[in-house]
Amino acid sequence: MDKDDRAKISLIGPDDVIGGRITTPQKYAAGIPAVKVALEHAMKEMGLKRSIATLSKLNQKEGIDCPGCAWPDPKKRSSLGEFCENGVKAIAEEATTHTVGPDFFKAHSISEISTWTDYEIGKSGRLTEPMVLRPGRNHYEPISWEAAFELIAENLHSLTDPNEAVFYTSGRSSNEAAFLYGLFARSFGTNNMPDCSNMCHESSGVALTETLGIGKGSASLEDLYEAELVMVIGQNPGTNHPRMLSALEKCKENGGKIIAVNPLEEAGLIRFKNPQEFSGVLGGGTAITDLFLQVKINQDVALLNLLIKKLIERDEKVGGIVDHEFIQKNTQGFEELKQDLEKYGEEELLALCGVPEAEVEKAVELLVERKKVVVCWAMGLTQHKNGVDNIKACVNLLLLKGSIGKKGTGTCPVRGHSNVQGDRTVGITHHVSKNLNDAFQRVFGFNPPEKEGLDVVKSIKAMYEGQAKVFVALGGNFLSAASDTLYTAKALQNCELTVSISTKLNRTHVVTGKTALILPTLGRTELDVQDGHRRYVTVENSMGRVHRSMGNLAPHSSKLKSETEIVSQIAQAYFQSNSSIDWEALGKDYDLVRTKISQMFKGFEQYSDRSKGAGFDLPNNARMGDFSMLPNGRAQFSVCRLPNHQLTSARFLLMTIRSHDQFNTTIYGLDDRYRGVFNERRVLFINPIDIEELGLKKMDIVNLVSNYDGVERMAKNFLIAPYNIPKGNLAAYFPETNVLVPNNHYADKSHTPISKSIEVDIV
Ligand code: SF4
Repeated sequence: MDKDDRAKISLIGPDDVIGGRITTPQKYAAGIPAVKVALEHAMKEMGLKRSIATLSKLNQKEGIDCPGCAWPDPKKRSSLGEFCENGVKAIAEEATTHTVGPDFFKAHSISEISTWTDYEIGKSGRLTEPMVLRPGRNHYEPISWEAAFELIAENLHSLTDPNEAVFYTSGRSSNEAAFLYGLFARSFGTNNMPDCSNMCHESSGVALTETLGIGKGSASLEDLYEAELVMVIGQNPGTNHPRMLSALEKCKENGGKIIAVNPLEEAGLIRFKNPQEFSGVLGGGTAITDLFLQVKINQDVALLNLLIKKLIERDEKVGGIVDHEFIQKNTQGFEELKQDLEKYGEEELLALCGVPEAEVEKAVELLVERKKVVVCWAMGLTQHKNGVDNIKACVNLLLLKGSIGKKGTGTCPVRGHSNVQGDRTVGITHHVSKNLNDAFQRVFGFNPPEKEGLDVVKSIKAMYEGQAKVFVALGGNFLSAASDTLYTAKALQNCELTVSISTKLNRTHVVTGKTALILPTLGRTELDVQDGHRRYVTVENSMGRVHRSMGNLAPHSSKLKSETEIVSQIAQAYFQSNSSIDWEALGKDYDLVRTKISQMFKGFEQYSDRSKGAGFDLPNNARMGDFSMLPNGRAQFSVCRLPNHQLTSARFLLMTIRSHDQFNTTIYGLDDRYRGVFNERRVLFINPIDIEELGLKKMDIVNLVSNYDGVERMAKNFLIAPYNIPKGNLAAYFPETNVLVPNNHYADKSHTPISKSIEVDIV
């Protein structure tokens, strides 16, 4: 690779096997190994002093909100530490002592960096000052903040239509920054506000809004503790939301039962060794799952329809299983669902879902005997063509049992990024809502645009086709997060300007528009001081609780700005004196931003005061059993169609997954301890019978090919790893496999990419 030729940028990075080790998967999550690995990460990246300073405040009241997942904090916080192994990794990644300044960019061209893995790029360190990549150049160079803001303003002014700009938001941004960002995009004139939710829980939002009148979950942490039965479907909490295991453990201590539904048998669903409990350190820990239903990829509707069908039939014989009183009083569509289910034979549904009949019967028994049910899920349900129906099928089960709007019951879509839910609450959405537009008019005196904006897949298409020319990202690593990596890379390269507001270097900084800016921002762990006063931001967790987050470390560089300030200064540079909004004041005074939020959105009264300590819960109609905003004021049962995959004998269904050393696109390390993988990410988890039938053996190297609409996409070099996964199903890590997911194949209604059910061949 010629280091100084920008034309030679690698769009997907290296795709060689490193030479890892594949061993037996672990049968439990956490325990002493988790503490050891967490400490190793902390010491390596932060050292002792910074580790103590950050971890003692992590997820404590008035402390630092974990920038990892959005799992809620318990009312009473543990003095031993209120975090998991992956929370420590997230903090270590941000508070690392490694930095990336002008010398780094002088030494390394972007074509060179593009040949590094995402892991290597991320480990470079924290960004310290604004950098610009000029057209045709291969090295970033420093730029002043003023010049950077002018460059953005100039490019935005040069557009012939505001809809030629795209404003992306990642789930790390605070409520304050996200609100201001949405305000700027709308006052600039566009609703092009794609966000990371488009790629993960959009299907949940659509399904829950249509069935229960709110696009968020209804269960609280206390509901999980009190539930008689928790179903965990399409979710791997041991890696992706580890502190959820403590909640499940508590549920079990209270006599609750857990059913896990997943194609892969995951360590975190088998046994949890709580490192804060004696039994977790020296004993065997807690068996989490009472019943594991190993469903085939994307056959959750078949399984849920089968369970519901059996429960209805049993109820017709003996009664007391279906909550008729609740259904009568609160719902509609039950008869239509019953009629639809009559169309399917039990044998057909059993064959489709792949779960042995005896296991299905055990699940029915558990459901028959229990009234308080919570269903938890994540990407395993949302990232399919029928992602919305998958969630609606879960809602059907809960409504059948009367398990909505009561203690110990509810829906629990588990969010993967710390403030992805809050960003939506305060106005980050590409959808147009009359109520929201009216609120902007009332509070800020302008009329926001009425044209529907672009979500992630539509934004990529618009950039690819040259209809969008300026791309601004408030956080995130867009290229590695999005599907169809090559297509997305070319889309970004078509832009005149790409702007990344970031804490750390990532792949989106090297596959850029003609001109690119990196604007370095404060992380959650850092002090945010204005006129001698320490500022805090607020976030909303997965269960709708809003609370403060306040950093305590000296910033990595005096040139960092907060996200809120950056957004405010982009707005000031763009509008100059032509805006009735006081952008400068909003950028400095977060209390003022919170006051504006409270004037626009219900439930934020006395926002700053109430965000103290444990914070406050936002209104949640489903939690209260109020369905008045739905047709006829009733929660909706839904008829859910079965998916229809055109698989030949040579084809497989592939689901993309995270490794245990990974958080979304951030790669903390190269191990996936729970699945028995070390020092390797190019791994294909496959059923041993399939390996034999293909004439392959463990550690052989294969390629994966998808073919949608006649377009062949290939992900090269994956090591064969025998695993407990249904025959015909495969799993491999993203972002390595994102190249296989076509941008134009996504979930109906939600447009979430089909990353969990990609039809592929092994070649
Ligand atoms: S469970 Fe999620 S929020 Fe909690 S410490 Fe772990 S990664 Fe952070």
